[in-house]
Amino acid sequence: MTGAASEVQRLLREDLRGRTAYGAPQLDVPVRLNTNECSYPVPEVVVQAVLAALAADLPHLNRYPDRDFADLRKALTAYVEKQSGVAVTPEQVWAGNGSNEVLSHIVQAFGGPGRTALGFTPSYSMHPIISETLGMTWVDGARDRETFVVRPESAAEQARSHDPSIVFLCSPNNPTGTALPFEVIGAVLEAAPDAVVIVDEAYAEFARPGTRTALELLTDNPRLVVTRTMSKAFAFAGGRLGYLVAASEFVDALRLVRLPYHLSTPTQTIARVALEHADLMLGTVEAIKQERDRIVATLAGLGTRPVESDSNFVLFGGLTDEQATWQALLDAGVLVRDVGIPHHLRVTAGTPEETTRFLEVMAALAPTHVQRPTAHAGKQES
Ligand code: PMP
Repeated sequence: MTGAASEVQRLLREDLRGRTAYGAPQLDVPVRLNTNECSYPVPEVVVQAVLAALAADLPHLNRYPDRDFADLRKALTAYVEKQSGVAVTPEQVWAGNGSNEVLSHIVQAFGGPGRTALGFTPSYSMHPIISETLGMTWVDGARDRETFVVRPESAAEQARSHDPSIVFLCSPNNPTGTALPFEVIGAVLEAAPDAVVIVDEAYAEFARPGTRTALELLTDNPRLVVTRTMSKAFAFAGGRLGYLVAASEFVDALRLVRLPYHLSTPTQTIARVALEHADLMLGTVEAIKQERDRIVATLAGLGTRPVESDSNFVLFGGLTDEQATWQALLDAGVLVRDVGIPHHLRVTAGTPEETTRFLEVMAALAPTHVQRPTAHAGKQES
């Protein structure tokens, strides 16, 4: 360690010393299927509309942006109502630079030092990172080790025994892909009466028909908050816009912790114009769902064990050595995600060409990289 590095370590908060920063590799390879982005570019019509709107904004960048992003909240409200069929008001909507930021607002306001956060692992790894870096104690709750499902009774029992201030639910869940049994939400709200319950619905638009949203439960539940993002189905990861829906009083409390003017004028404008073109922006969702289902079916045929998915990605198990498979895919120009679950990898559903390339490489690797049925029985760890 250099002198400067050890000096920085000495000064750093004790609980952060030796930690490594979150982040998937950003590698320039032909097929990038590791961060659940949309593989399709923003439609040209939207590009032109955004450019025109930005041109009107630029002379006014001498002024701070609208601190309460009223127009953007209206646009988000209209989108949420149309997408979910649930009535929402702009006062119930809050936004940030990605849903990671709105998650951190919730944790700053309702979590913090001396309080406990509970999530059901494996789930989105930023949930513990946001909680711990904001001083909370994190509890790794359990899922079924074979199916990755969380049952309502089990979730309630775990919530009851840890007395959390925040419970993270994720539906559809990253990295496993499947939506939560809907009853888990009510069971956790009841079992943890002093907790804010966050349902992270980053992948909601990809869910299979009949999947219910936690938005339905918001009325009369001021402790419930649903977070969503424009980064996935909305094909807008670079725009950095995530949002939440909760009781208006809950949203008001978030103003206590947000930095003033956290959403720049260009961010507000770009997101608002994209939302005005929601149908176009979401135009590839059905095609992506088809690729996802093709991945599940084809990988099963290759002897791996894909998990059913309500998202734009598939987790698959049954690999002899997931790190070796990850590297072999990369050597063939295909970047997927090693999410730290033994024998498993996660792949994003891309364009038909990208998906085909991934599946071709997997077919070539299968004879040497996939466990034989008897060898992996009972070995699936979480
Ligand atoms: N929640 C989940 C479950 C995610 O998978 C992600 C992105 N990988 C996010 C939240 C954060 O996305 P963003 O900050 O881009 O909105």
